[in-house]
Amino acid sequence: MIKSFSSPLTKKSTFILAVSLFGLNAGVQTKENETPTEQPKNIIMIVADGMGPVFPTAYRYYFDDENTPLVERTIFDQFYVGSASTYPATESGYISTSVASGAALATGKKKTNLFVTDSAASATALATGVKTYNKAIGVDQNKKPQLTVLEWAKSIGKKTGIAVTSQIVHATPASYIAKNVSRKNYNPIADDYFDLRVNGKFKVDVMLGGGTKYFIRDDRNLKDEFVAAGYQYIDSYDQLSTLTPEQPVLGLFAKDALPAELDSKQKNRLTTLAKTAIKQLENENGFFLLLEASQVDWGAHSNDIAYSMGEMKDLAATMTYLKSYVASNPDTLVVLTADHNTGGFTIGARGVYKWQPEYLKNFKSSPNKMAKRLAKKTLSVNNLSDELGFALKPEELKQLEVILLEHTIDIKTNALSEDKNKKNLVTRYYEYINKIIDLRTNSGWTTKGHTGIDVPVYAFGKGKEKFAGFQDNIEIADKIFALMGKSN
Ligand SMILES: [Zn+2]
Repeated sequence: MIKSFSSPLTKKSTFILAVSLFGLNAGVQTKENETPTEQPKNIIMIVADGMGPVFPTAYRYYFDDENTPLVERTIFDQFYVGSASTYPATESGYISTSVASGAALATGKKKTNLFVTDSAASATALATGVKTYNKAIGVDQNKKPQLTVLEWAKSIGKKTGIAVTSQIVHATPASYIAKNVSRKNYNPIADDYFDLRVNGKFKVDVMLGGGTKYFIRDDRNLKDEFVAAGYQYIDSYDQLSTLTPEQPVLGLFAKDALPAELDSKQKNRLTTLAKTAIKQLENENGFFLLLEASQVDWGAHSNDIAYSMGEMKDLAATMTYLKSYVASNPDTLVVLTADHNTGGFTIGARGVYKWQPEYLKNFKSSPNKMAKRLAKKTLSVNNLSDELGFALKPEELKQLEVILLEHTIDIKTNALSEDKNKKNLVTRYYEYINKIIDLRTNSGWTTKGHTGIDVPVYAFGKGKEKFAGFQDNIEIADKIFALMGKSN
């Protein structure tokens, strides 16, 4: 453990000392034994946030054709190549990257392994090949900026892009672009997107996702700054078809994150954004594109399997599109993995040997939206069955009335604000709807947080062999660096 942990850090920190991060010289540097012809021209990295191995499995059963005896394979199954461990660095700031972990041990101190990562540490690992502490964005344990595969791509003359379903300053995309001690510093992270450059050039040519509130602020209007610098700005899906291919793009389609797939008017929004990003990025030097199915994680945090399956459906459509793209552009590599697992979801629970995903198939909106509408009384308890696509039992309808009654009593006895009370009611409804779904489908959960199990790795296209078998998440970055001609 100590050896495999310390060596990549030492290796990377040497590199950072030798070459200042933002003063990289342009030009492909290839290893003597690796010719550029072995390198894919385009690299598409997809992070499915929170997607432990159970989610592609659940998706497979969710979309099973009931008319055939065997379960059909999914787009994920076609491209499965291996798995990855995701643990973060030992506890924050404890072990210096310039000192081998053995030296720290010699002082008699013991390092603390947490084994369970957050999205920031894991995305930083995937982006830079360096283990860091939970919450870190593109910096190591000593808070030193680290070179990312996206920055390297830019430095060797490729175009770069991100297309995500969260706000574009959220932990995963931020780790590829910004440098910050904490993922929570959204505004400074947004500033980095404009202020940090590679060889004097903007780092990212195409940025698509949510988050206008971080780019159009009272203290700074980054949208205007990007436009003045030559970017096209769009804020609706209708405008995607109006983009000029040669010109860089900032596209923000929501104030914060994009709506859940189940609630989105634009269906398969990740797929739509991925198609646009690729169209914008295609050029003779190739491109690096980061895609993130950001909200598989958010469904799992709420123990809401309907939400996560909606996100998986959009991700599957993205993969299907990329399969056809790679068929006609075989010099492209696609890698999909997760940053960690979330929720400890289980297919089958309570000792009962069955899982019934058919109850997830006819949702008219997300359970969270249903809960909000119940609280606002724009949806009646009796109409909830229509929204869910299955009939509620009399005792469930009664329990929903009890929730409202308990809430009414609560308001009278607690000293919370009206807003807080409303939120509490939404939470109660939401949790109860999720409970109904779990009982119908016979699903289980172990946590509302992350878990430390290994995640699956999928790859296809040029260079996919490199990702076969077991690896650690930092090795995924190492392999991508190598495929872009960067020697260690
Ligand atoms: Zn999470």
